Amino acid sequence: MPPSSGELVLDARDLHKTYRTGRAGGHRARVSAVDGVSLRLRAGESLGIVGESGCGKSTLARMLVGLERPDSGRIEVAGVDVTRARGRERRRMHQRVQMVFQDPYTSLDPRMNVLDLVSEPLMVHRRVTGGAARRDRVAELLSLVNLAPELMHRYPHQFSGGQRQRIGIARALALDPEVLVCDEPVSALDMSVQAQVVNLLRDLQRRMGIALVFIAHDLSVVRHVSDRTAVMYLGRLAEIGETTTVYDAPAHPYTQALLSASPVVDRTRRRLTDRIRLAGDPPSPTAPPAGCRFHTRCRLARERCAREQPVLRTIDTGPDGAADQVVACHFAEESRAAPAEAA
Ligand code: ADP
Ligand code: MG
Repeated sequence: MPPSSGELVLDARDLHKTYRTGRAGGHRARVSAVDGVSLRLRAGESLGIVGESGCGKSTLARMLVGLERPDSGRIEVAGVDVTRARGRERRRMHQRVQMVFQDPYTSLDPRMNVLDLVSEPLMVHRRVTGGAARRDRVAELLSLVNLAPELMHRYPHQFSGGQRQRIGIARALALDPEVLVCDEPVSALDMSVQAQVVNLLRDLQRRMGIALVFIAHDLSVVRHVSDRTAVMYLGRLAEIGETTTVYDAPAHPYTQALLSASPVVDRTRRRLTDRIRLAGDPPSPTAPPAGCRFHTRCRLARERCAREQPVLRTIDTGPDGAADQVVACHFAEESRAAPAEAA
């Protein structure tokens, strides 16, 4: 039974993930991919997650859907702690949270036809028995993503990129999830079909009440899909809030810089933030800066920022009464009040 609207479906607390990689300077390097991220998602809600390549978005996504185990932290799916389970059991418990992968060209096994691809989760979890029930369910799932059921006997190479991503979405929907975690679902697609896939996901969210986690490096995509937006930087959340608030009155200097670097995000604010430049590449996650991880590129950085790691806190947005804005910056009030002057 689907949870009633507003019910907490996914509650991730203080997730950490470190990878061991090859040798760097004679010792084994450790990559801090996700470092203390907490997220809560209510039924039917959509949450956008944005950040530069390498900031830990996919690692976070894999933990949320149970493909990877956090080193520490806790994930509750519809009130059940799934973090302690392992392997097959964890994936069974995670059925309510499904993933749409970034690349529809590599995420679908080319040797399987659409019927097999879309019904595989149903077979694995013994949700259907018998050929007729399986075909009926696959036909139903294909129509949900606006693909003709007659196409179920074809193979991935016979489809366009946009159609393949629809097949990936149908497969993710097979087990009736309450949450879809979409990891850059349109980045590998042509501009012309990106909007179609985004609209499909938005439509599924509205029509079926599915909660969406929509990951992108492009802010302009996330804006139209997300009720709330989270901004990640080097494995941590920099800012999270209502999408309109984050876009119209960004409080973290990193969010401001990302917005000003985004060519498509609205022109008015672009002028305001024109002078905010994001210098250089992000530091290596094998040696993240002490204190605030953003301080090496921040226009407002002071001595305190190199020393003391800011925690996420709700800032006072004043009498204009914007919704909760949660920011990890020692100087968020100052930054929000003057997005450009200090640049
Ligand atoms: P994003 O999706 O935001 O680009 P990722 O989650 O893929 O970021 O990666 C975050 C960091 O973790 C990167 O530095 C990446 O190189 C590293 N990383 C990701 N997966 C692995 C892995 N399986 N082994 C080692 N390092 C990894
Ligand atoms: Mg990624």
